[in-house]
Amino acid sequence: MATTALFRDDFYLSTNEAVVTAVHADGGIELDQTCFYATSGGQPGDTGFLERSDGSRIALGPAVTGATKDIIIHRPLSDETLPIVGETLVAHIDWARRYKLMRMHTACHLLSVVCPYPITGAAVGEDESRVDFDMAQTIDKDEVTEKLMRLVGENHPIFVQWITDAELAANPGIVKSKNVRPPSGLGRVSLVCIGENSSVDSQPCGGTHVSETQEVGAIYIAKIDKKGKENRRFRIRFGAPGSDA
Ligand SMILES: [Zn+2]
Repeated sequence: MATTALFRDDFYLSTNEAVVTAVHADGGIELDQTCFYATSGGQPGDTGFLERSDGSRIALGPAVTGATKDIIIHRPLSDETLPIVGETLVAHIDWARRYKLMRMHTACHLLSVVCPYPITGAAVGEDESRVDFDMAQTIDKDEVTEKLMRLVGENHPIFVQWITDAELAANPGIVKSKNVRPPSGLGRVSLVCIGENSSVDSQPCGGTHVSETQEVGAIYIAKIDKKGKENRRFRIRFGAPGSDA
């Protein structure tokens, strides 16, 4: 049964009441609705716990998708007591961790604005994120940090725009980042837009993001590794340049 993915309409939702719809043999738990993001698109799934009516907690590792993308599986840590189908409980995500992931994920979008090259890979982490670009140029990391922090300081709004496949086909210019191919065939695509009227960027993405660029906070490019002749791996960290080795 498809899970209602509450995070899609509210990235800031950290808790919700839910009914258990399935408990798998391996312990995986399905709920009718959830604020848990499931691992996909380079963003790790949410961790947290399920609170039962007696107040006891079921601790959860990162959520994943099930047999189909619209099913979200909550994964209890080992030795946790499992709930029963039909039980009502309250899902809580580890908000401190998720918020860092939202800030980092948004930082990756800003990096793709500063470095408008094709992306060949990305992984969002709570302490460090990496984005791989198909580019042969050598680029100064402090210069990139400066441009990133300018976008953060300008406090651009970030919003999601849902468009149909047909609208996208009729208006290819809607997607400003040319390095991300929109997933088609689902009927509709969520575009993550930055700036008034998407003036800074818009690109297809199903992850969770903060609502203003200032929320990203202080970030910097810690490292740019050369991965082959035409590949550069950028590492983004929180803080100011030089705050670690
Ligand atoms: Zn995104």
